[in-house]
Formats: sequence, structure tokens, C-alpha cells
Amino acid sequence: MRFEYCPFCGGKTVGRETGDEGLVPWCDNCTRPLFDMFPTCVLCVAVSDEGRVALIKQNGVTDHYVGVAGYIKPGENAEEAAAREVGEELGLEVTGVRYMRSYWYDKRCMMMLGYTVFVKQGGLKPSCEVDEAKWFDMDDAPAALRNTSLIQQLAELVVKAYKSGEL
Ligand SMILES: [Zn+2]
Repeated sequence: MRFEYCPFCGGKTVGRETGDEGLVPWCDNCTRPLFDMFPTCVLCVAVSDEGRVALIKQNGVTDHYVGVAGYIKPGENAEEAAAREVGEELGLEVTGVRYMRSYWYDKRCMMMLGYTVFVKQGGLKPSCEVDEAKWFDMDDAPAALRNTSLIQQLAELVVKAYKSGEL
């Protein structure tokens, strides 16, 4: 998101040379630069204490499973967002989170922070936002996800780390 208008006062921005950043939108009223912005989301692979992976189907998309994902709310950190989203969408008890890596999601201009979210194995109680939730054996999880998608890349990373004992 590039600011033509200041989101604080509504005034039109002007371009201003700002340090190493080059021309940055600037608000004369608020005397502040308005750097380009994008939403930051968490992307999660839920792994149980029995080494199984919970994936979901959402928004009527039926051919592939996806991971739990969601926006970080103002005031919470990314780890809290990952734990909250998995807890809400799968109805499972979250026992820990581990940051894996980040992905730039070009299609939607978003920053995705990838997490392993550790959960207690149990009955899935998906939220109303979720069409279906299912447990997978760890080895089968990446194949249930769309080829080369960010969530498949993250799931492959999680499986590798889990099997090598890094998780
Ligand atoms: Zn302003």
C-alpha cells in the first residue's frame, strides 16, 4: 500500500528524499514519512504431540488443503497470533510455537510469517470459518497441499526439521 493521502490527517502526501530510501511519501501536516505498507500474517503448520499434522479446507476451496493462517492484530505479537489462530480454527490446545521463516506473498502483497504450532492430539473442533479439518500423517501432509504453494514449502520445512530432531 503506497500512501497518496496521509492515513492520520487525510492530507495529500508529497514525495521527499528520506535517507537511503529514496523518494518516500511525506505528510507536511504530520511531519512524518509514510513508508509503503503491507499486511503481516501468520502461516501455520499445526503439529501434534503424536507427530501428526492438522490441515484445513476453507472458503469452498475443495481440491487442496491449506494451513491455518490469519492477520496479526494490533497489540499482539506474531507468536500470540499463530497460537490464537490455530486454537480458534482447529479447537485444539496449543502447547508452543516455533518461528520457521518468512515468505513474501506477491499475489496479495502480504508478508507471511511461517510457524510450527505445537498442539495436543485430539478431536478437531473447527471454527465456523473452516469447512473441514483433518489430521494427516506427517509424511502425507505436504502432498495434500497445492504444489509449490507457500504452505507446501513451509510444511516441507517443518517435516524436515521435525524428522531431524530440530523441533
Ligand atoms: Zn498527516
